[in-house]
Amino acid sequence: MVRELAKKLGILADSAKYDASCASTRTSRDPAAAPGICHSYTPDGRCVSLLKVLLTNYCIYDCAYCVNRASNDLPRARFAVDEIVQLTIDFHQRNYIDGLFLSSGVIQSPDYTMEQIVAVARSLLVEHGFAGYIHLKAMPGVSQELLRDAGLWADRLSVNIELPTTDDIRRLAPDKSHESIETVMAGVKSEIDASAAGAGDGSSPPPYAAAGQTTQMIVGATGTSDATILTMADRLYARHNLRRVYYTAYSPIPGQEGLFADAPIVGDARVSSVGGGRARIDLPTGDRVPRRHGDANAPRSAGARERLAWTRHHRAGLGALAPGHAAPGRRAARRQPGSATRGLRLTGRRSEARTRNR
Ligand code: SF4
Repeated sequence: MVRELAKKLGILADSAKYDASCASTRTSRDPAAAPGICHSYTPDGRCVSLLKVLLTNYCIYDCAYCVNRASNDLPRARFAVDEIVQLTIDFHQRNYIDGLFLSSGVIQSPDYTMEQIVAVARSLLVEHGFAGYIHLKAMPGVSQELLRDAGLWADRLSVNIELPTTDDIRRLAPDKSHESIETVMAGVKSEIDASAAGAGDGSSPPPYAAAGQTTQMIVGATGTSDATILTMADRLYARHNLRRVYYTAYSPIPGQEGLFADAPIVGDARVSSVGGGRARIDLPTGDRVPRRHGDANAPRSAGARERLAWTRHHRAGLGALAPGHAAPGRRAARRQPGSATRGLRLTGRRSEARTRNR
């Protein structure tokens, strides 16, 4: 069982490494680090660790630039919801990670996949009192109802814009469209705005994706110019209030080397040029990632604090969401080093944190 889980982790961490939308890179500095533990750097230079994995690398779509596309012959695996939850809790308790970055290939449908992703986050919060950072990938085409649910449990949501022009998308990712992707971005923005505006009756609505939303754009898969890429990024920032557009260099995938005959040869240097230019111009403020727990001076993820506070406050109602699983009590929470107790202590600061981070 342990060996089986380790094998899945190896496959699904490897498949997740192409997603740059949490700015993370694989590291081998820590000899104890398991596959999937990545280091991310915040804009002010702080280093944080995330477990970055896919729920599954099976996918019904066939995006030409993606190693996980349906037609690619590679080892496949799928985590059960409970398996990711347990891995996350174990790694967090051992102080390996500060949080979870969870994405997935699309299985059955965007809604079915999103349900599984949301179930992981909900279980971490409701059943385990997890106070670490949670970044969830939203599936293009997902329903607003599921999107609303996802943001209640996640600090951050992201949906990848993938490519800079509609023509690029049509050619390389025909199962997707900018329209369906931007519909998700607009849905996240509207939920964030609604949460920030309050319920209007004096009651406090649940916090929604307090660390905002991000996206990722692939650079170099087509001949699209830097100017067009940046124009697209500007539009996304303005229209959907993104915290950040991440850029990732297209790397040819085995069997697809000759596909992009018109694409210029690019690499990280061009990504740095494009992304660095953007960063110098208007790196979004408040692109906040939590610090490692155990650092006494480090503020926790405000999103986690808010979600945990809201979860505890509404725990009776949550029984309907997770039958048979109430949020852990204070005594149980104390048995989870570095997670629930810290969140419990911070519940009184919910309003202040919320105001500060909006
Ligand atoms: S939907 Fe995502 S995982 Fe599936 S092929 Fe496209 S980019 Fe890859």
